Amino acid sequence: MSVASVIVDVAAKQTDRAFDYAIPDKWKGIIVPGMRVVVPFGPRKVQGFVVALKGEAEVKRVKPIADLLDLTPVLTPELLEIGHWLTEKTLCFMISAFQVMLPAAMKAKYDKELSLLSKEAYEQLHEQVKPFFQSRSSLKWSEVEKTAAAPAFHRDIQKGLIEVVYVVKNKGNKKTAKGVKLNQGLEDIQQFMSELNKQAEKQKQVLSFMLDRNEEVAIKEIAEGLQITSAPIKALINKGLLAETEIEIYRDPYQDRYFTPSKPFQLTDEQAEAIAPILHDIEKNLHDVFLMYGVTGSGKTEVYLQSIDQVLKKGKEAIMLVPEISLTPQMVKRFKERFGSKVAVLHSGLSTGEKYDEWRKIQRKEVSVVVGARSAVFAPFENLGLLIIDEEHETSYKQEENPRYHARDVAIYRGQHHQCPVILGSATPTLESFARAQKGVYKLLTLKQRMNKSSMPSVDIVDMREELRSGNRSMFSTMLFEKMKDRLEKGEQIVLFLNKRGHSSFVMCRDCGYVPTCEHCEISLTYHRYQNKLKCHYCGHEEHVHTECPECHSEHIRFFGSGTQKVEEELTKVLPEARVVRMDVDTTSRKGAHEKLLNKFASGEAQILLGTQMIAKGLDFPNVTLVGVLTADTMLNLPDFRASEKTFQLLTQVSGRAGRHKLPGEVVIQTYTPEHYSIQLASQHDYDAFYKQEMEIRKMHKYPPFFYLALVTVSHENIAKVVSVTDKISQYLRQKLSPQTTILGPVASPIAKIKDRYRYQCMLKYKLEPSLIPLLKYILERYQAEMQKENLTITIDLNPYSMM
Ligand code: ADP
Ligand code: ZN
Ligand code: ZN
Repeated sequence: MSVASVIVDVAAKQTDRAFDYAIPDKWKGIIVPGMRVVVPFGPRKVQGFVVALKGEAEVKRVKPIADLLDLTPVLTPELLEIGHWLTEKTLCFMISAFQVMLPAAMKAKYDKELSLLSKEAYEQLHEQVKPFFQSRSSLKWSEVEKTAAAPAFHRDIQKGLIEVVYVVKNKGNKKTAKGVKLNQGLEDIQQFMSELNKQAEKQKQVLSFMLDRNEEVAIKEIAEGLQITSAPIKALINKGLLAETEIEIYRDPYQDRYFTPSKPFQLTDEQAEAIAPILHDIEKNLHDVFLMYGVTGSGKTEVYLQSIDQVLKKGKEAIMLVPEISLTPQMVKRFKERFGSKVAVLHSGLSTGEKYDEWRKIQRKEVSVVVGARSAVFAPFENLGLLIIDEEHETSYKQEENPRYHARDVAIYRGQHHQCPVILGSATPTLESFARAQKGVYKLLTLKQRMNKSSMPSVDIVDMREELRSGNRSMFSTMLFEKMKDRLEKGEQIVLFLNKRGHSSFVMCRDCGYVPTCEHCEISLTYHRYQNKLKCHYCGHEEHVHTECPECHSEHIRFFGSGTQKVEEELTKVLPEARVVRMDVDTTSRKGAHEKLLNKFASGEAQILLGTQMIAKGLDFPNVTLVGVLTADTMLNLPDFRASEKTFQLLTQVSGRAGRHKLPGEVVIQTYTPEHYSIQLASQHDYDAFYKQEMEIRKMHKYPPFFYLALVTVSHENIAKVVSVTDKISQYLRQKLSPQTTILGPVASPIAKIKDRYRYQCMLKYKLEPSLIPLLKYILERYQAEMQKENLTITIDLNPYSMM
């Protein structure tokens, strides 16, 4: 095999295929598919993935591979195959599919290098450029970039005196430490030890330490372990008894933590019934998709843990996905306590280096369980025995950029490949999954009872319009306020939840209803209290706060809705004795802040936990007996057919935070639309009724799970162009697709402009359309040139979760 097919790191239609490169002799037999290489591509060098080997190239003369980045493949044959599948499922480029499966640290970074073309060229260089090349023939662009000589460099590059070369920068960034190993045989060392005098006691200790360990050990570790300086170790190196080595160390985010091992619980009858078919599949190497539908606190996680345990006993591996937001220290702790060092954790709170290290533990099979957010579904295990997706209804499992994959689809695909079970768990399954379970495509497992038989909390709905009418202008209804006071007196704890995902902190004129929007993006500007400014969350545009309405000149234009900060301020006014922990993007952005704040609440130092989405999930505090939802309807008004479903899910999740243990819990939901069925049914904990009602609406309007969706979004600076392209695409699809398929549009997207680019869309609702993928691919090809030259963008989202 002397030729490698390589997918290069250039995300474009023309380069979306394998290119042949010759394998230099020194790497013959070493390079295999799945390794990263550096190859010449046009004038530059780029990173690439080897996807196949062959005896001969298709074209006559092929360039050789310039560099080899891996010694073991980073993509297993299975992952290479999944890459191909992703390109079909999400219409992405091959290179994007491969990159999404690897930690960010392994993505190529490029340095621009400038090199002098010839000795003769030196004389012709610009006077400002000459000094740079006086003693060398190449230098980094970054040295020049910010100097006054930059324009002169551009001139000389254009003249062809200097060449620009792209070089691949990092080859991964392992962290190493100085270590030592024994450099002589046992007898020699014992001999030496017996001859050492009293003063050299420490050297003796080091040697016996090393004899015990009989492996490479970091110098730091020896010094710390024996409580000595490094001097005696150095002395032994000088005497030739120890040899210096470089050893790789992992950046372990949990290294300073001790986890008390936990034992499996005796399962309840319900749990035992739910786990039986899973264990059967594990035992017999069978693939099924199980939908584990169980209220919060019904013991789903315990079932996951025991299933994983069984998988490990068979010598296999398991992946457990949780939404980023609920990958809380509490969740990690439960896994570490049960499986100790067999667990790797992958989430966005880790640094790039830490993520890379966790990933390498998986690659080297040093761990057999991964707990992680969405992309952990690509963990390079080769002997998978189970995949679990907890809170399967969470939309964060869908990636909203290329490749637009859903982790659930990947998990099921891998489950089929490995012939192992997949568990989807939720207290509020997506309609799609529940419908599949009803049809028997998935196997339904139900957990109805809460652990320790605690009942679901009682829920009160408060109509905030009534509050206003009766003169209460505060953000707390009388009922919620009374209950809060009561809990503070009793020394119990309170969780206050603010749904911020709607546009809640905008400014509005109370007289004419005018809302300031971004002039580049057509979304309402968000009010930032600290700077007293209005900001656009899409493009960063800033404005001063208006003192009078630009439309009607009224002075009654002011901040509307309530951010967490404002709630906190009001709390200190009305309940000055309460200690409050506020959790939102602002207070948790620093590393470790999340955990610190939670500890403050867990220890009882604070009585009120106030926060956004991020406190809705996974938290379990025994002393919480009251949950308040301040504004239940911000999400109901979004232009999204899943708005009711998302509201129902969120309210159910939040309510689940109350009364999980001995003390009974209460929930107060404040809303301006108390009659809405998703609010009513969430308060009654009635998923089944919600499912029935929502399914009728979906059926009527031809939405999933009755129909599939595909969303084509076109954007460009020129609105006429956007409209005409979207129109042509819609017409083309209308001609080619079956009459049963509905094509909506072209219409302006709900967010009609982002960063000065207009956005139009057309939405397809279809049941069976075998030629859809080829047609969509044809569209992308047809507009290829315009996309590249004129900055036109066409994005295609199959099974979209974000309709904006
Ligand atoms: P879920 O994942 O459905 O929210 P958990 O698995 O977290 O539920 O269980 C809720 C609580 O009950 C946890 O504190 C857990 O440790 C405990 N628990 C779970 N299963 C059992 C069991 N069989 N016996 C005793 N306690 C259990
Ligand atoms: Zn006005
Ligand atoms: Zn903007």
